[in-house]
Amino acid sequence: MKNRIKTFTGSKHFRLNHVAEGVFAAISVPGTGSLGNAAIIDLGDTTLVVDTFTTIQAAEDLQAAAEHLTGKPVSYVVNTHWHSDHTCGNQVFTPAAHIISTSITREIMSTFVKNRLAQHLSNPELIYQAIDELEEKIQQETDENLKKEMEWENACDREYIKMLPNLVYTLPTITFDHQMTIHGSNRTVQFITFGGGHTQSDAFVYIPEDKIAVMGDLVLSKHHPVMNYANPQEWLNNLEQVELLGVKTIVPGHGEVCSLKELHEVKGYITDIVAIVTKTVQSKKSIDDILVPKVYQDWYFTTHFKTNLKSVYNLITKSEN
Ligand SMILES: [Zn+2]
Repeated sequence: MKNRIKTFTGSKHFRLNHVAEGVFAAISVPGTGSLGNAAIIDLGDTTLVVDTFTTIQAAEDLQAAAEHLTGKPVSYVVNTHWHSDHTCGNQVFTPAAHIISTSITREIMSTFVKNRLAQHLSNPELIYQAIDELEEKIQQETDENLKKEMEWENACDREYIKMLPNLVYTLPTITFDHQMTIHGSNRTVQFITFGGGHTQSDAFVYIPEDKIAVMGDLVLSKHHPVMNYANPQEWLNNLEQVELLGVKTIVPGHGEVCSLKELHEVKGYITDIVAIVTKTVQSKKSIDDILVPKVYQDWYFTTHFKTNLKSVYNLITKSEN
């Protein structure tokens, strides 16, 4: 089945990675309509896709890859959490596939995300304005790596805004609150949630037999974790429970296929950010002056560092008041 990757026509949005027999990661190509990673799992009689990218075009390529690799249409799609780069491609897979998420994720998708999409659609000027503003920053940026990352960010936003008029935001049809299992003819997969952390509710897909976990954005590899909607302590608790499962291979939400080492790095990052911000608040200094610690300087998503500091700052100062 590995050779099927070679005969796939390819996609500009992702690269396929053979993780195990019948398990493939679709690793995002920066600056395209994917933004996040996805995965394809052959269950024998059925096929499962985990997360659906940001744009319809990227999701169509994912669907084509899944059918090519497994020889079957996609029967199940899991959304690990509500973020757009994991859910906006859902429409491509329905009505043939069931879309599955936690009940909290579905609730947020049906209210907050739908409203936000309607706002984007009725007022796209705001996004174009943000793109123009970032474009100006790019022109002035002297750090080549940061410049490249900002260019990717803008390219993704352009793909998103171009697609928006055709988007039919598609909600999950099956929800679960703790755990759900699908027994395929060749393989059993578990959908597990230990609550939130990265968002209000985060799920992951676990294949016990192969000890492979498709983690959504609870684990990122060599990328700054995204903390805009995070609860740092819940995130750490969540990852501690994942560790107990004996996971060996991880398909992260962003970055290359990895292992528990990267899970530990994410834990270290969250702990560090909280410690740095706490110290800054206690010494009454400004978080604007904090530089990216050396260990994280070669990680992607650099622009998220500042927003992460701000999110944690807001959490800490809110809890003090
Ligand atoms: Zn996310």
